[in-house]
Amino acid sequence: MTAEKEQTFEFQSEVKQLLDILVYSLYKNKEVFLRELVSNAADALNKMQFEFLTVPDLEGRDQELKITIAVDKKHGKLVIEDNGVGMTREELVQNIGTIAHSGTLDYLKRLQESQAAGPADLIGKFGVGFYSSFMVAKEIHITTRSWQKDGKAWLWKSTGESNYTIEASEKEGRGTRIELLLKKDEKEFLETFRLKNIILKHSKFVAFPIYMDGEKIERRDAVWTQPRSKLAEKDYGDFYKFLENTQEEPETWLHLSSDAPVQFHALLYVPKTSFELLGLMKTEPGVDLYSRKVLIQKGSKEIMPEYLRFVKGIIDSEEIPLNISRETFQNNVRIDKIRKHVVKKLLEHLENVKNKERDKYLAIWKNFSKNLKEGAVNDFDNREKLAALLLFSSSRTQGDALIDLKEYVGRMTAGQSEIYFLGGADRQAIEKNPALEIFRKKDHEVLYLTDPLDEFVLDHLHEFEKKPFKMAESADIALEEKAAAGDEAAVKDAENLITYLKTVYGEQVQDVKISKRLVDSPCLLLNPADAPSVQMEKIMRMVNKDFPLSKRVFEINPAHPLIRKMVSLHQADPASPLLRTLALQLLDNMKLREGLVSDTEATIARIQQIMLEAGGVN
Ligand code: ADP
Ligand code: MG
Repeated sequence: MTAEKEQTFEFQSEVKQLLDILVYSLYKNKEVFLRELVSNAADALNKMQFEFLTVPDLEGRDQELKITIAVDKKHGKLVIEDNGVGMTREELVQNIGTIAHSGTLDYLKRLQESQAAGPADLIGKFGVGFYSSFMVAKEIHITTRSWQKDGKAWLWKSTGESNYTIEASEKEGRGTRIELLLKKDEKEFLETFRLKNIILKHSKFVAFPIYMDGEKIERRDAVWTQPRSKLAEKDYGDFYKFLENTQEEPETWLHLSSDAPVQFHALLYVPKTSFELLGLMKTEPGVDLYSRKVLIQKGSKEIMPEYLRFVKGIIDSEEIPLNISRETFQNNVRIDKIRKHVVKKLLEHLENVKNKERDKYLAIWKNFSKNLKEGAVNDFDNREKLAALLLFSSSRTQGDALIDLKEYVGRMTAGQSEIYFLGGADRQAIEKNPALEIFRKKDHEVLYLTDPLDEFVLDHLHEFEKKPFKMAESADIALEEKAAAGDEAAVKDAENLITYLKTVYGEQVQDVKISKRLVDSPCLLLNPADAPSVQMEKIMRMVNKDFPLSKRVFEINPAHPLIRKMVSLHQADPASPLLRTLALQLLDNMKLREGLVSDTEATIARIQQIMLEAGGVN
């Protein structure tokens, strides 16, 4: 069925553009092409290893799985060969000639424009590593034969312009041989010394033997299975760079080995960069699952909870059956046990970093706070550990300073039993909220929540160290304060005004009351116990514009001149039109602050009326 004769194919247009970027870029670090070819070979060997474990009676089981590099100086050729899974004709077309992930090209282009990083720094991350060989080769031949029964050999050829060809070929045994015909200026890649250095620099930890012109290149064995005492800081950094194809150091790492209750080795890293924050793509899970140094699953979804998708590294356990099928990963008791243990240790490690290496933790917080908050909401078993990792600004912090909940609880004032918080767009907006006045007066610290996510998080957590979270705008906080004015007569006079306001506001509010917490402002809107905050309601309204707003409690400050003025207007004439206008505007002002005024025209008309009044025009 398949064409034995040479057939020509066009590259997918994204590939053409990518090749343009790579071939004509002035990128100096071209040597990374070798890292990409070696890592592809290692991937193919990994897959083969997996097949041997799962498919019974496969031929060639006793052959050494290896990568071979050879140079042919006479013809200017560099050859990289592996005896991995190889490719069928369909796979050749599928895998080489198209870009798997949509959006990859855009991303690379943007990076190139921003010059934040050379394209070759990121090539390996985006599934386009193979094409980097065209930076150094004027022509590439791939001869490949699939491991599958009756697999035939195919030859793929391209000069990296707009097309490639495929034809039937000859090859002994399964695997892939990649021949690069080097460009005139790239002959340095024919020097074995140079090649060996590149391998030791970029491919030191590849899990399969690499031979060059017959000689085995000695490299490091699986780092994660070695005792911590044998590893230096640099080894951990180097391994991370290898694992992630990056030049960047990790922010922090954790190396664990356990024998009971389950046996495993774990080497986990927190990166210095968040790809999600940079935009575009949601990070795929970053921890690979191994069993006795054999890769079982790359980026395992089961070995780490989703919110920890930013964590990179390896978990290796002998207890994971090698022939486990992908479907049975879920609900595998051993994997569950390992995950539980590792997550607990990792969160403890982060707590440690937070307490001992503050700057490091602040960097982690900056990059991954969203993930940790997601965890605080979703990971019920670890909610206390996650709560302890959260950072906030507060009425007692300054500038960018942040505190954690332990610090808050540690300095709660005598008689304070709740953790107070108040949400708002930013620090300034929150500080203008009259609800804060009483907390200032009583010297109770209030957490400032400027991320809308925060309120969800606290809502889910309910409490920290047995201290419940309480919104500073809640109407039901026991503040044991006398009427702010302390003036019995003023309070009594205000009572008639309250009755009046209740009729004017009608259904707009739940209740009107004399405030026990206002100091400087005339009035305040409070949330009835357990009603969602305004911030929360706004989010709900973005999702559903008909989301009903809860009715709130309106409190007035009888000592305030404006309220006094209204009391005397009411005493003189309960039907005063000015009094009614002032009353309506008073409520509107509170709603304005929260961006909840629905009838702007009516508000403007009312303000103009008050202006006229102030100007003495009637
Ligand atoms: P990535 O490795 O990230 O998928 P590449 O551009 O490096 O992206 O490779 C594209 C695909 O080509 C690989 O996913 C693999 O399917 C196939 N491939 C490349 N090299 C080999 C090889 N040596 N053996 C088998 N398949 C290979
Ligand atoms: Mg690759």
